[in-house]
Amino acid sequence: MKILITGGMGFIGSAVVRSIVAAGEDRVVNLDTLTYAANPANLADIADNTHYAFEQADIRDRAAIDVVLARHRPDAVMHLAAESHVDRSIDGPADFVDTNITGTYQLLDAALAYWRELNDEARDSFRFHHVSTDEVYGSLGLDDPRFTETTPYSPRSPYAASKAASDHLASAWFHTYGLPVVISNCSNNYGPRQFPEKLIPLMIISALSGKPLPVYGEGLNVRDWLHVDDHARALRAILRDGRVGETYLVGGDGERRNIDLVHALCAILDVELPNSPHRPHADLIQFVTDRPGHDHRYAIDHAKLTAELGWSPTIDLDDGLRDTVRWYLENREWWRAILEGRYDGGRLGLTRTAD
Ligand code: NAD
Repeated sequence: MKILITGGMGFIGSAVVRSIVAAGEDRVVNLDTLTYAANPANLADIADNTHYAFEQADIRDRAAIDVVLARHRPDAVMHLAAESHVDRSIDGPADFVDTNITGTYQLLDAALAYWRELNDEARDSFRFHHVSTDEVYGSLGLDDPRFTETTPYSPRSPYAASKAASDHLASAWFHTYGLPVVISNCSNNYGPRQFPEKLIPLMIISALSGKPLPVYGEGLNVRDWLHVDDHARALRAILRDGRVGETYLVGGDGERRNIDLVHALCAILDVELPNSPHRPHADLIQFVTDRPGHDHRYAIDHAKLTAELGWSPTIDLDDGLRDTVRWYLENREWWRAILEGRYDGGRLGLTRTAD
């Protein structure tokens, strides 16, 4: 199978590309326009692999998508390209509307035109897998049941609203035009190669230099954390065996309050860096004004995915956090290059926590 992956230079996309290429069966074409969030270093070691090709293109550029589809003739599209950072969506929603909504529309419409020209067999097996987030479902109370595939949409941030809109477009292209769409909505990911503006790398990197660790509000917001490699495995299973027209929720069984997560990271750093002048790292924690519209709790019930496709998360949160801290300690050049180069630190200021 040849899979066109959009956003493959990003955090999750690069994990998916790596896992597919490592398996050695399928081929990948990575379509990415290389925004600030892209990092070609994420895939440098497979750049010359014969199962891998890169196309720099923008999903908002219909002509460019058509060229890539015609050149590579993929059997499936897995769509991850997006603006993905909630705080940025609050500061500047326009990019989120452009990329996540208009870009998804352009990609769906290009895929539909391409799909219609395929022969019967190829049309039957073609898939358009739209990758989305649990944030489209809004905010849970502490005692509310977890999100399921039938939870009503209730997005509350510009990011979540733009992803919700893209989910609805993908669903409409299935119901109206018959494009074989499958959708997945996932909880918060963590792991190696996550861009330093996101909560976990931000905390690790700030703690290393003794900077304050900013935690929104009282840190009581709850997120369900999933290791990016578990997500990549779920995405491959859904693309291969998911039922057309269905949605699958992907979660880590890893609910944790933000403050507890940050304390866990600090405790790991205390052990990994016994000679650090910043021990105990938890002393660096500072509570900062909460962000507007901050969803209280996300939690995922992934029973459908487990029952239908046999997937469940395999990486325990505490083990995954320890390995992630070690990765950032051992790969300082990876994140230093971002902080010193393309990273737009002035806008985010590296001062806020974020999903
Ligand atoms: P990311 O920000 O790390 O990477 C996004 C990638 O998309 C980048 O490589 C960027 O260059 C590319 N991109 C952005 N705009 C583009 C455009 N117009 N054309 C082509 N490429 C473009 O994002 P991520 O965290 O890896 O998330 C990937 C997907 O998974 C997103 O759709 C996101 O909504 C979804 N998701 C993320 C999480 C999470 O915790 N990170 C959780 C659930 C779902």
